Amino acid sequence: MGSLGETIALRLNNPVQTGIEITSIVKKDKWNIIWKRNGELKEENFDALVTTTPAHSLPLLPFDKKISLSLKQLAPIPYTPVSILIYGFKRDHIQHPLDGYGILVPEKENMNILGTLFTSSVFPSHSPEGHVLLTTFIGGARQSDLVTSPLDHQNLLVINDLNQLLGIKGDPVYFKQFHWLNAIPQFNIGHNRYLEMIKKIESDNPTLYISGNYCTGVAVGKCLLAGLSTAEKIKQNISS
Ligand SMILES: Cc1cc2nc3c(=O)[nH]c(=O)nc-3n(C[C@H](O)[C@H](O)[C@H](O)COP(=O)(O)OP(=O)(O)OC[C@H]3O[C@@H](n4cnc5c(N)ncnc54)[C@H](O)[C@@H]3O)c2cc1C
Repeated sequence: MGSLGETIALRLNNPVQTGIEITSIVKKDKWNIIWKRNGELKEENFDALVTTTPAHSLPLLPFDKKISLSLKQLAPIPYTPVSILIYGFKRDHIQHPLDGYGILVPEKENMNILGTLFTSSVFPSHSPEGHVLLTTFIGGARQSDLVTSPLDHQNLLVINDLNQLLGIKGDPVYFKQFHWLNAIPQFNIGHNRYLEMIKKIESDNPTLYISGNYCTGVAVGKCLLAGLSTAEKIKQNISS
């Protein structure tokens, strides 16, 4: 995920600035933005402004009161938590050939894991010779409480499920866990009202564009297409 963003950034003519704190966003003729970098304030005007933070972060952005209030309407979009457990095993300790992308587990299977990516089958360089890397997801909308349960408990449930599905003969030689409390936006019944709000906010504030996975879909491919479509809209609006 990191290399994708870094590669896109390298191909742009203007350097992308990260690690800055935006302190003010005001719509004048253009978008006047003030930001802080290493304690030093900078100011510049921009033709267009795109927000790509998660919906729950929108009210934190330093817009004027009117726009902040509009954006606050999107903050209740629900996000589910996800915990990922990453295991490295010796290749011969897994019976399954791991000849695919991974597994998705439907609810009716009554398992604890949501799915497992065969990470080293997709990216062979992610594990040393003779080893495999498996990335397992738990929590989500189905069992959100698991995400904050003790790590030993998560580990036990996951290894048990992986054993049933893949046949594990030995202990992992590598382990890491991460979790996100607000990981994945949910397109629940009624999500359309948020999409209508986004349309209204954008039409009330021409040259403000709202983008991100809660608008068009969570898959990375969808996010990329949405980004391209936003860029295309901006190009057309600016040239007209
Ligand atoms: C655990 C997990 C596994 C996934 N696996 C897959 C997969 O296998 N395949 C797939 O297609 N998709 C997968 N997804 C979904 C996909 O990764 C995301 O939907 C997608 O990356 C979201 O892109 P985005 O640009 O909308 O948001 P993000 O990538 O979340 O970017 C939002 C950015 O906003 C920044 N931000 C937040 N608050 C503020 C603030 N107040 N001020 C400034 N910046 C802020 C964040 O730091 C972040 O950089 C997965 C998601 C998760 C959580």
